[in-house]
Amino acid sequence: MIYLDNCATTKPDADVMKTFNTVNEKYYFNPSSPHYKGLETNKLLEQARNQIKEILKLNHQSVVFTSGATESNNLLITGMARSKKPFGKTIITSHLEHPSVLETVRALENEGFTVKYIQFNEGKLDLEHFRSLLNSDVTLVCLMHVNNVMGAILPITAIHEILKDYPKVHFHVDCVQSFGKLALPVHAMDSFVLSGHKFNGLKGQGILVFDQLKTITHTMFGGGQEYGFRSGTVNVANDVALSRAIRIAENERVQLVKRTSKFKMMIEEEVKKLPGLVVNSLPDGAPHIVNIGFPGVKGEVIVNAFSKADICISTTSACSSKRAKFNEALNALHVPETVIAGSVRISFDKYTTEDDINQFINVLNKIYNDMKELIKDAV
Ligand code: PMP
Repeated sequence: MIYLDNCATTKPDADVMKTFNTVNEKYYFNPSSPHYKGLETNKLLEQARNQIKEILKLNHQSVVFTSGATESNNLLITGMARSKKPFGKTIITSHLEHPSVLETVRALENEGFTVKYIQFNEGKLDLEHFRSLLNSDVTLVCLMHVNNVMGAILPITAIHEILKDYPKVHFHVDCVQSFGKLALPVHAMDSFVLSGHKFNGLKGQGILVFDQLKTITHTMFGGGQEYGFRSGTVNVANDVALSRAIRIAENERVQLVKRTSKFKMMIEEEVKKLPGLVVNSLPDGAPHIVNIGFPGVKGEVIVNAFSKADICISTTSACSSKRAKFNEALNALHVPETVIAGSVRISFDKYTTEDDINQFINVLNKIYNDMKELIKDAV
């Protein structure tokens, strides 16, 4: 099997699994318990939190352990919007965002909030349009660092610079697809989220990094764990294993970028040789994501054809494919409708090899030959 759907999830690192199992065996105690085993377990949890702070070079920000980016985005966006409601009710975001952001801000519209979307111009976020959306009613800006469908990199530092003139605005960033591939602009974000399984950690592991714990409305109630922000018995083994995954991914980042950039180039060069096929991913996009359009053919048909050859790729993203919706991200980036319907995503991780890419290219050529009449008719 050749696995090229690493934006959906990655294979867990053996070291991360070992850490998870060891901690689960030896420290299955509740870190809130007052006995010595509880205290030891809590010490381990706090060590993991401090290690993450050190690796990510955080200063005053706190690390809240969650079950992943969906939960982290929900907690932050809803809590922050509600706490800032007396000062303004406008949230700015983009159509590129993951459903855990888009559906959260859309749910807030029912509470009286207004949502505005920044436009894109030739694949780039339009900073002038962003400026035009800012006014005294804006309290929250939510953007992703790297888009999960196209690999577009959003200008987080430039947004932060513009927001210096708007001190009451909270800037929240979804770094799920950028961590382990790009350096995080930690100084430019008021809060950000990560999901462990996107960088060879485990499913159900996430963090929310946030520096204003006192000024946010809580949306989850219970035992008051995780600064009262995320109640529920803490999954210490999961959180310690996540700190391990973060360390490994950060240590291996430069090497991964080098390898995956080469793979991206190999595939894009091949696609350019096949008349009618379109490279949707941007030349200055993230190194681990390639997006190809097959005009006139459904993306699902392409994914099935690769599946039959034992190669796993994806249509748009695993999350939106379940929702069977027209891809909002590709549409916002002005990809034509016929190309969107036939778009597929190929994504790499540290376990992807050059041999995988060569085999992918062979199969791509075979599938193209089978479908080239359909593609020719559509272009
Ligand atoms: N944001 C982005 C950009 C993502 O790609 C994903 C996962 N597809 C998420 C958020 C949600 O992560 P999780 O499913 O781990 O909660």
